[in-house]
Amino acid sequence: MNIVIAGAGVAGVTAAEKAREVNPQAHITVFCQEKEALYYRPRLPDIVKGTLSVEKIFAHPDSWYQEKNIELRKGEALIEICAENNQVRGSLGSRLVYDSLLVATGAESSRPSPVNYDLPGVFTVRHLYDAMTLHYEAKRSKTAVMMGAGLLALEIGCALGAMGLSVHILERAGRILPRQTTPGSAKKLEKYLTEQGLVIHLNASITGTTGSDRLQRVETSDGQPIDTQILVVAAGVTPNLELAKHLDLKLDRGIVVDEYLETSKPGVYAAGDCAQTKDGAGGLWTIGRAEGLIAGHNLAVPRDQRKVYQAVPPSSSLKVAGLDLVAAGNLDPDNKLTGAEFENEKTYRKVVVDSEGLIVGYTNLGTTAGNRELAAALGKVKIKPEILTGLSQENFDFSLLK
Ligand SMILES: Cc1cc2nc3c(=O)[nH]c(=O)nc-3n(C[C@H](O)[C@H](O)[C@H](O)COP(=O)(O)OP(=O)(O)OC[C@H]3O[C@@H](n4cnc5c(N)ncnc54)[C@H](O)[C@@H]3O)c2cc1C
Repeated sequence: MNIVIAGAGVAGVTAAEKAREVNPQAHITVFCQEKEALYYRPRLPDIVKGTLSVEKIFAHPDSWYQEKNIELRKGEALIEICAENNQVRGSLGSRLVYDSLLVATGAESSRPSPVNYDLPGVFTVRHLYDAMTLHYEAKRSKTAVMMGAGLLALEIGCALGAMGLSVHILERAGRILPRQTTPGSAKKLEKYLTEQGLVIHLNASITGTTGSDRLQRVETSDGQPIDTQILVVAAGVTPNLELAKHLDLKLDRGIVVDEYLETSKPGVYAAGDCAQTKDGAGGLWTIGRAEGLIAGHNLAVPRDQRKVYQAVPPSSSLKVAGLDLVAAGNLDPDNKLTGAEFENEKTYRKVVVDSEGLIVGYTNLGTTAGNRELAAALGKVKIKPEILTGLSQENFDFSLLK
């Protein structure tokens, strides 16, 4: 059996490993457009900061792929697929026939229009090369501007702040981390980051970039331009869909897949940031890995032995300058559901339940107490009203969440 995988990120490599586990005989080929195979993308801010050496970011040495008998084609993109005769072509000329195919091509940083991306000093951070170049540029710069106040912008902003740069964060919305915070936790986090020296501009956007041979200034919607040597655009991601278009797969925000992670073409699967399950698009490492495990299994077994993908609740964590933030599931920012909140000077916690008492979301800021128990209870445990009341007390006993 020939299994072909496009993309050597967490979804593609996890799938290859799983496929090998369930089918020791299969021939498995992974096309890897980047020069480097799987590395821990979430650790790129540490490369920017200079606190992680490049060798430590890789998930596996090259010998691991050999030991698993996975043919890794580094530096070769899969560029053509012919569904009529199940053939694929790589950018370095390889031609292969597949029995099952996985599209795990991930995503690229979005590039909103008012910015001139050709100007040196303007960055997006998705690849190892981006993070290494940004680190080098930061060493000779004084100011950096972040476009966006999502997880990536805050982590990169804090990394640059730790290198001694003066950092401005511009966010179009009225609060930072609009997807991971409630108004309560956002305020606390804003106060904390401001105390760390970050300058936060809310309800503000970038309207242009100025500079002839390199970036000199960003123009802003509040009419107060900022002189800067660095602009990091962290405005979300756009799935890589070229291959999917080539195959004429059904697309929406990503490649539409069914409960087996199979696309609209039989035998062709999709996983990770490029895929869209019925629960929505991925965008997280944990989801890419969970989808990779199921896609890898399904690529390698007969159709009647395939497994159904069970959605993993979206969960993000942020650790900046010693402050922990975990957010998972539905945070109910508009307070339409029932919830319990606890807040003191340093910490903020919110737990949200549905009408049946099922825990559907939580956030924990400034503490890790209860993270493990809340993660285990999310989507699984129904709690009684008195337990919910207890969750709004400081010393709640999290072992009661069973
Ligand atoms: C700086 C940063 C920090 C992050 N932090 C977190 C975090 O804290 N927590 C979290 O859960 N998530 C985080 N994420 C998101 C997480 O890294 C992604 O969700 C995850 O990497 C997606 O994995 P993937 O395998 O789907 O795609 P990718 O990691 O994008 O890998 C896809 C690979 O396929 C390659 N490719 C594309 N087209 C082709 C082709 N035609 N042929 C061959 N190869 C191709 C791409 O070059 C890429 O190497 C972060 C991301 C970044 C950039």
